[in-house]
Amino acid sequence: MELEERLNEVRGRIRKACLAAGRAPDAVTLVAVSKTFDAEAIRPAIFAGQRVFGENRVQEAQAKWPGLRAETPDLELRLIGPLQSNKAAEAVALFDVIETVDREKIAKAIAAEIQRQGRCPRLFVQVNTGLEAQKAGIAPADAASFVTLCRSLGLDVEGLMCIPPVEENPGPHFALLAKLAKQSGVERLSMGMSGDFETAVAFGATSVRVGSAIFGSR
Ligand SMILES: *Cc1c(COP(=O)(O)O)cnc(C)c1O
Repeated sequence: MELEERLNEVRGRIRKACLAAGRAPDAVTLVAVSKTFDAEAIRPAIFAGQRVFGENRVQEAQAKWPGLRAETPDLELRLIGPLQSNKAAEAVALFDVIETVDREKIAKAIAAEIQRQGRCPRLFVQVNTGLEAQKAGIAPADAASFVTLCRSLGLDVEGLMCIPPVEENPGPHFALLAKLAKQSGVERLSMGMSGDFETAVAFGATSVRVGSAIFGSR
């Protein structure tokens, strides 16, 4: 299958999942995760009308997106991987959305860069719903107070993001994220990947992050 066919299939499955959940067919934003793929491989997705992309590493994104953006100015680029505070300046300069705010140090670094650069990416807080040691994210019990802390720093958090443990049924993790978003007073939910995005849509995802189902295996 060509990339455009795979992209259209994913779009169709998202629309179907929305309708099955009683949601508007366009209620969910598809974030095409292009990590490890070069500009050559990404261009067909842009030609096929895809505009929102996710990358998990600042440096890798810096290498390919300024050029792609020069060709297509209305792209939206999202950081979906862990952010080190020494990369906060680059991240604030490059990304339209940072989905992985997960500790005070990085929240403060982002707030300082927003002040300095006068550029304000939209922000999500990452929650470690499975409390996995190797995974980034704030503990579920601390999510609401962390969102409050971010707001006190002047950060406008618009949603929560999670990556459920690979070996577990993702449904309860998506339900937990939705509950925490309500408690935290945020509207958006970034959840669901190639293997589980329809489940995420059923649990209220407002954006899904889909890589391999569009670009092929990495
Ligand atoms: C790689 C990645 C994805 C996409 O995963 P696929 O299984 O290829 O769809 C989604 N979210 C994050 C945070 C990722 O790092």
